Amino acid sequence: DKGMEKSRKNFSDRIADLFTGFRELDEEFYEDLEETLISADVGFNMTIALTDAIRDEIESQNVYKGEDVKRVMIETMVKVYEDHEHENVSLNENPDGPTVILFVGVNGVGKTTSVGKIGYQLKESGKKVIMAAADTFRAGAVEQLSVWGQRLDIPVVTGIDQGDPASVVFDAVKAAKEGNYDYLLVDTAGRLQTKANLMQELAKIKRIIERENPNGVQEVLLVLDATTGQNALIQAKQFNEATEITGLVLTKLDGTAKGGVILSIRYELDIPVKFIGLGEGANDLQPFNAEEYMFNLVK
Ligand code: GDP
Repeated sequence: DKGMEKSRKNFSDRIADLFTGFRELDEEFYEDLEETLISADVGFNMTIALTDAIRDEIESQNVYKGEDVKRVMIETMVKVYEDHEHENVSLNENPDGPTVILFVGVNGVGKTTSVGKIGYQLKESGKKVIMAAADTFRAGAVEQLSVWGQRLDIPVVTGIDQGDPASVVFDAVKAAKEGNYDYLLVDTAGRLQTKANLMQELAKIKRIIERENPNGVQEVLLVLDATTGQNALIQAKQFNEATEITGLVLTKLDGTAKGGVILSIRYELDIPVKFIGLGEGANDLQPFNAEEYMFNLVK
């Protein structure tokens, strides 16, 4: 598929050597493997864990041919990834009212776009969706979400620029309940000047939702830009300290060879990836599938 093409090609350029012919599986091979994983942003700790696991499998299965090495590698990556998976990747639902999903992340990662894309997919699957433009901080974010809403025929609750996001959220929860909506998607402001600030703002939004909606918030999705490599891991750590993140949306995988960062995030923080973004259009979003992902990364 179109999206993974770039990740795949660049990664495979580097990795092709490892799997061609009868390369000897010596120390140099494992060193090259490590270097390749690091260059794909798999991260240091995950790279060591993976290389060790792959080495164990190769030795215990007595594998020596390139294509078998590749198969063992994909299997091991999926296994190591899934060992860290404690929840499934589908969205948590609220049985007693609207399912509320908060989208968080720094400016420019593709947060507003992801709200639109997920709104579109939910609507396509027959759900009744409403969106809240609570990113009143970034200039243009409210307008941008309104445009998505018009295009997709999804109502958008807005406030004024630089207004209080909490009041937008309050209005949106009311509208979601009164209109019997299945999903409320909330675009929040992505400022991260100070952690205390961010923590307070998110806590306030959550409090309002908890007061107005049975079972409060079901998902807090952190949106990360895959092209930022290991910076994405740093952002994940900061946001995870500010509030409980229930899942990730990894965007811009159509533009990078660095998709390995999700392994790093899984390894360090144990947060599941729920969606991947593969372009700017409403259709360019997929539910995360570990096996397919690792396969495309290594292929
Ligand atoms: P926000 O500041 O986090 O809300 O970011 P935006 O949603 O405004 O997105 C920033 C830019 O990234 C926009 O030009 C989007 O069209 C683009 N973008 C978002 N997701 C993707 C993606 O998956 N792939 C690509 N190539 N571009 C994306």
